[in-house]
Amino acid sequence: MAALRSAMVGQTVKDDSISITRCLQPTYMSSIVLFGPPGAGKGTQAERMIDATGLPQVSTGDMLRAAVKAGTPTGLEAKGFMEAGQLVPDSVIIDLIKDRILESDAKNGVMFDGFPRTIPQAEALEQITAVTHVIAIEVPDERIVERICGRYSCAGCGSVYHDTFNPVPADGCACGHWEEKRRADDNEETVSSRLSAYHQQTSPLADWYRSKGIFHAVNGDRAIDEITVDILNALKV
Ligand SMILES: [Zn+2]
Repeated sequence: MAALRSAMVGQTVKDDSISITRCLQPTYMSSIVLFGPPGAGKGTQAERMIDATGLPQVSTGDMLRAAVKAGTPTGLEAKGFMEAGQLVPDSVIIDLIKDRILESDAKNGVMFDGFPRTIPQAEALEQITAVTHVIAIEVPDERIVERICGRYSCAGCGSVYHDTFNPVPADGCACGHWEEKRRADDNEETVSSRLSAYHQQTSPLADWYRSKGIFHAVNGDRAIDEITVDILNALKV
């Protein structure tokens, strides 16, 4: 996925999205939750949203790993659950977020990535900060399966290719050491089960945010630049 994303990032941003960037930044103040199934291009759009809004990305997974590594009180608490093979409770994650949003770079808001995933988490988040926009990048499941299952990489240099969208050139990879590599979990069965877990988990949360009038669905089955423009327009509402 990371390499697929970087291939997408390589595309040029259109002038209209740059002008949206300029008018957004000076007055921008909000907290955003980014939704999207695996393979929807969330990473690419997240990078662009960060550039456009200046808001820092708050990834609870990264924060958790950092807190454990730094041995902070919350980190030690989290470590205990992880070592016992248990899920880290929402209260611990919320404590981490509480600390994070007090940092100076978060004074205008943050962009949440990978959190909340459930209604109780969203309710807890609501107690400590106001989410103003929830952006959902929607891509039909069959398109995601097509995107993920067709991808492969060069064992020599790691360049990512795709059966349909970006096949390896007839004379092999530019690095000269062509050997096809496919990830075992990039198969239809695994991707389908990840997608159904995602839908089960996030659908109720999407409805919950929709009822609050801050939910914006964006069609993610289009060119990357078009998706970015739609997202930035949704953030202006
Ligand atoms: Zn190569």
